[in-house]
Amino acid sequence: MKIIVLGAGVVGVTTAWFLREEGAEVVVIDRQDSAGKETSFANGGQISVSHAEPWANPHVLGNVARWLFKKNAPLLWHFRADFNQWRWALEFLRECPESRTRKNVAAILNLALFSRQTLQNLREKEALNYEQSTRGILHLYDDERSLKSAHNALSWMQELGLDRRFISKEEALHLEPALKSAKKNILGADLTLSDESGDAFLFTQQLAQKAKEKGVEFLFSTRAQKLVAQDDKIAGVVIENAENPDSTLLTADAYIVALGSFSAPFLQALGLRLPIQPAKGYSITLDLTEQSVAPLLSLTDDSKKLVFSRLGNRLRVAGTAEFNGFNLDLDEARAQNILNETLEWFPQIHHQGDPHFWCGLRPATPSNCPLIGKTRFENLWLNTGHGTLGWTLSCGSGFLLSQMLAQKPLKGIFAHRIFPFLER
Ligand SMILES: Cc1cc2nc3c(=O)[nH]c(=O)nc-3n(C[C@H](O)[C@H](O)[C@H](O)COP(=O)(O)OP(=O)(O)OC[C@H]3O[C@@H](n4cnc5c(N)ncnc54)[C@H](O)[C@@H]3O)c2cc1C
Repeated sequence: MKIIVLGAGVVGVTTAWFLREEGAEVVVIDRQDSAGKETSFANGGQISVSHAEPWANPHVLGNVARWLFKKNAPLLWHFRADFNQWRWALEFLRECPESRTRKNVAAILNLALFSRQTLQNLREKEALNYEQSTRGILHLYDDERSLKSAHNALSWMQELGLDRRFISKEEALHLEPALKSAKKNILGADLTLSDESGDAFLFTQQLAQKAKEKGVEFLFSTRAQKLVAQDDKIAGVVIENAENPDSTLLTADAYIVALGSFSAPFLQALGLRLPIQPAKGYSITLDLTEQSVAPLLSLTDDSKKLVFSRLGNRLRVAGTAEFNGFNLDLDEARAQNILNETLEWFPQIHHQGDPHFWCGLRPATPSNCPLIGKTRFENLWLNTGHGTLGWTLSCGSGFLLSQMLAQKPLKGIFAHRIFPFLER
């Protein structure tokens, strides 16, 4: 069976890997010159099952009201004359009541647990090294509001089998001594020892290389223009690259769309409406000097919605969400604000060279549940819409989709198709 995977981000590459493991002939197409160069490039690095609570939750409306007119707010909504954006906003509101949030937490958490285990198995089997750390993730709260709102989600996650638990400030400082010099007042903390972190870009590049060695074909610097449909099937994908400037039709038995935020406009021409909006986020990466007192543990500042990951000698800090279409302009002030917050937490950090500022577009669905499964075209599949958790969910999503394409029965919690991402 020949399968074309569109997109070589962390989701496309893991999908290609597991399809190849199932014996498929796989071709991956990406407009960049190598794998993982867009949203998977400099994300927060967390493999965070503990982050399974979606943005759409009962507390978000209070937060949005507080943040609405603040330039440095963690979440910014730019009002645009875009019908899809407004429809997405309405769908987002529908996901906010507690009953919906709870269902979404369960779906995301189950996939995240499975995905983390799949990543661990893959890492061991293929001896992957991507500056990973397996010390866990510590959530920090420096205001009462965010601490209070963490309680529900934390107890749901515990019920679903996650080892996330509140710990004292003293235990937090003991686990991460670099916090002792923080200018922030830690009011509470919780720890998920089984969570991890690592560089998604290094992982994606390494796995792509290994996939190539196993026979996966990568067509880089190649743009997928459109899919050509014939009745209820896809007949091919039109591509263009330097060798084929006049565009060529590539054909396969099945096609998988893993184009991140661009999956939605790409499929619009076929009449498929994916509920995905690009949510721009920022990261900064600091090359640490030896004198730096920097965290080794991966951290989440739950009040400011920032995540910190130690990647070898580098510290990556990421966060913020801005809904402003596909705009990828880098607002220095917003990145600088992340740097300022970092120095509030860790005043004794010193870095060599300029900080690396970056921004990327999270493919956000209203519920933060990804879209994994078949479309109404019988040979067109989706693996996209992973929002805030694409790195965490990638291995599990890739594996699941490979099982669906191989027509293998889904086992365990995935057998009943009770999760929204399997129903589409
Ligand atoms: C600031 C920030 C912090 C984050 N932190 C975390 C975190 O800590 N943990 C976590 O789990 N997740 C995190 N995420 C989310 C995660 O990075 C994304 O969900 C994930 O990278 C999405 O992967 P993807 O493969 O779907 O998309 P992408 O990585 O964007 O891949 C899509 C690919 O499609 C290609 N493409 C698009 N259109 C075309 C076309 N027409 N033709 C050919 N190729 C095309 C692109 O070049 C790209 O390589 C974060 C995201 C951001 C922005």
